[in-house]
Amino acid sequence: MIDLELLERVKNDALYDRAFQCIAGGMLSNYKHKEGDKPTFIARTEGAHFYDFDGNKYYDFCINYGPSVLGRHNERFRKFLMDELEKGYTPDLKEIQIEAAEAIKKCVKGIDLIRFALCGSEADMMAVRVARGYTGKNYVVKFAGHYHGAFDFILGGTSTPENPVAVDEEREGDIYNSITNTIGRGKHALMDTMIIEFNDLPAMEKLFEERGDEIACVLFEPIPVNIYGCVPEPGYLEGVRELCTKHNVVLIFDEVITGFRLALGGAEEYFGVTPDLWTFSKAIGGGFPVAIFGGKKEIMEGIVECKTLSAGTFQGHPLCSAAIVGLTTILAENDGAILKKINRLGNMLAEGFLERAKAHNIPLIVQGFPGAIVPVFTTKDKIINNADALENCDQVIYFYFSTRMNQLGVYNLQRYSCCDEHTEDDIQYAIEAADKVFEELEMFM
Ligand code: PLP
Repeated sequence: MIDLELLERVKNDALYDRAFQCIAGGMLSNYKHKEGDKPTFIARTEGAHFYDFDGNKYYDFCINYGPSVLGRHNERFRKFLMDELEKGYTPDLKEIQIEAAEAIKKCVKGIDLIRFALCGSEADMMAVRVARGYTGKNYVVKFAGHYHGAFDFILGGTSTPENPVAVDEEREGDIYNSITNTIGRGKHALMDTMIIEFNDLPAMEKLFEERGDEIACVLFEPIPVNIYGCVPEPGYLEGVRELCTKHNVVLIFDEVITGFRLALGGAEEYFGVTPDLWTFSKAIGGGFPVAIFGGKKEIMEGIVECKTLSAGTFQGHPLCSAAIVGLTTILAENDGAILKKINRLGNMLAEGFLERAKAHNIPLIVQGFPGAIVPVFTTKDKIINNADALENCDQVIYFYFSTRMNQLGVYNLQRYSCCDEHTEDDIQYAIEAADKVFEELEMFM
């Protein structure tokens, strides 16, 4: 087992120094920087592994922050892209966008109409605009700790139960809140957002009773993978659906992570609850930069009538649309065999983590779902929302575990996702690495 802390990554460090001279911070995203580590430059990929320029091998459970469900070498997927590329690379309206939209409609039953975007942040912002246009109302409700992209209006914010309108402040001890804070945000950007806790139906009921006539939409991840993988309590999603219908609030599922990973039909298929609008990105493009938003015909009508603006030079780029067609075709084959495999490996990883943690007396639960599992250090048997996490999770160990796993070559983003190229040997490696970290932790606990 490698330990990067003990290795000199000479070529990698030289690349970082070079990158630092021409790319701000020498990295691609603030979130892709691991505290205390220099970013890793990928020289080549093989199976579910990649190698840095010094020849070190990494077991990749980050899979490009989620998108690469098929892995990075699927020949058939490549062919879908190459076939489109060979027709000439014009970012224009062709048949492939219709095929992509039809493929999505076939998977996600409640969607009537879609539009394309380039990333999850853009799709979320557009869904909010559509909801505002449809309802004629202004406020957006989102949940504490949830992440919907890096743009001013949907990033971060805190609130109090007495006053749910978001403010741009650091909340002490809340690591998630601190990493979504930014300088340079427009002064009024968060003032149209209200923040309440996930899995707290009475709080939503009270808010809707008091201010439902001002609220355009509720935007959230049906399984908030970004917030300790909390799972909706029984009846919660149904309750939210009911409240939204009663108060004419548009219900938006942000399926940027759960989409095409939780199930081919997403959270609607998995939970049996249908939102009004959806956003998808990451997995839907199998590694290419594409997102979509869409939903019920009457809600998308503003775009149909050109009253709600949706525009962009590269939206629906043929190569990205071909990626959607390729991904959905391949995932649907053999009765969804690839997602079944990913689920099986994810469950195996979760069980391995739990078993080894128990052997070392480390209080651990695993949340999320098999396609994106989140190890959470707590003595409780579940964590239901941000407030619960702040009170009952050990965030220091949470980040220590993630950092040490990265150093041991198990590339992760606090959550762990498998792809079609993972093998049982890869899972075993990750479990052995976890065992080593639990052993280290046991000495401090
Ligand atoms: N929504 C969720 C749930 C996400 O996890 C992310 C990104 O991680 C986004 C939206 C934003 O997507 P993107 O980074 O493609 O803009």
